Amino acid sequence: MAAVSPRAIGCPVCGAPTAVAFRVRGHDIRRCAGCTHRFSAVETGTGADHVRRVYGDHYFTGGGAGYPDYLADGGLLRERGRGYARLIAGATTPGRVLDIGAAAGFVLQGLCDEGWRGAGIEPNATMAAHARERLGLDVRTGTLEQATGSPGEDLPAPVGGFDLVTMIQVVAHFHDLREALARAQALTAPGGHWLIETWDSASLSARLLGRHWHEYNPPSVLHQFSRASLVSLAAQFGMAPVQSGRPARRISGAHAKSLLRHQLGTGALGRLASAALAVVPDRVSLPYPADDLFWILLRKDSRAGR
Ligand SMILES: [Zn+2]
Repeated sequence: MAAVSPRAIGCPVCGAPTAVAFRVRGHDIRRCAGCTHRFSAVETGTGADHVRRVYGDHYFTGGGAGYPDYLADGGLLRERGRGYARLIAGATTPGRVLDIGAAAGFVLQGLCDEGWRGAGIEPNATMAAHARERLGLDVRTGTLEQATGSPGEDLPAPVGGFDLVTMIQVVAHFHDLREALARAQALTAPGGHWLIETWDSASLSARLLGRHWHEYNPPSVLHQFSRASLVSLAAQFGMAPVQSGRPARRISGAHAKSLLRHQLGTGALGRLASAALAVVPDRVSLPYPADDLFWILLRKDSRAGR
């Protein structure tokens, strides 16, 4: 009997054929033959299931690939939102912002501190409720891929679109990348901006670590971008780069320890590292040291349609 050839899976960035590069914890990491993009495919039609499974409350409190205690990092995240608002102040003046993957609302709150008026969308209902009830922010429960964008429903879309759409630590998680970005594009006002923070698979540290790089981390992380692949993808949605850089990110001791333990596993090295890390206090804030994280501000062509 002839072997059934696996269904061809095209690259979501450039459409070229892809092949499995290696596997991580039972999931394929695919390599594109035409560009630098790497990704894990979520089976068509199972996106809602995927989101429910991956972004339950455990993602925000269970450690592992997620967060040991997301709400405890509120101060750091709010400062990150303020920092980004100051960073882009030369390129755009505060207006209406939509924060995709807003979680408990802290980054959005930081943007609002600096003059932006905000709304958000977040798949985890507990986090979105925190943003609404504790911070008084308009954060709707849902995913960008499935949002209808109807006024008063899952997205408070303003007439004319948002002046800024922020995707901080979000694009690597989209289960339907092209659908999500098409919706983000439709929600962005002509001349409006996207601010994206994500990981760089072409960075020196990612290349040195190879398949052991922490962002080969399915099923929560599904895409490994380089700056070049992200810029090329965004261009297909009428978005051109304006500025980019490496964020001065700080993370809590608790989060750093939890990520390292997840990465190193329960083997001898993991146990050794766990013992060594026990001296790092949970509440200390540490600068993120590596070169594999970047941010980029993109502008929508004012002639691009909505
Ligand atoms: Zn490609």
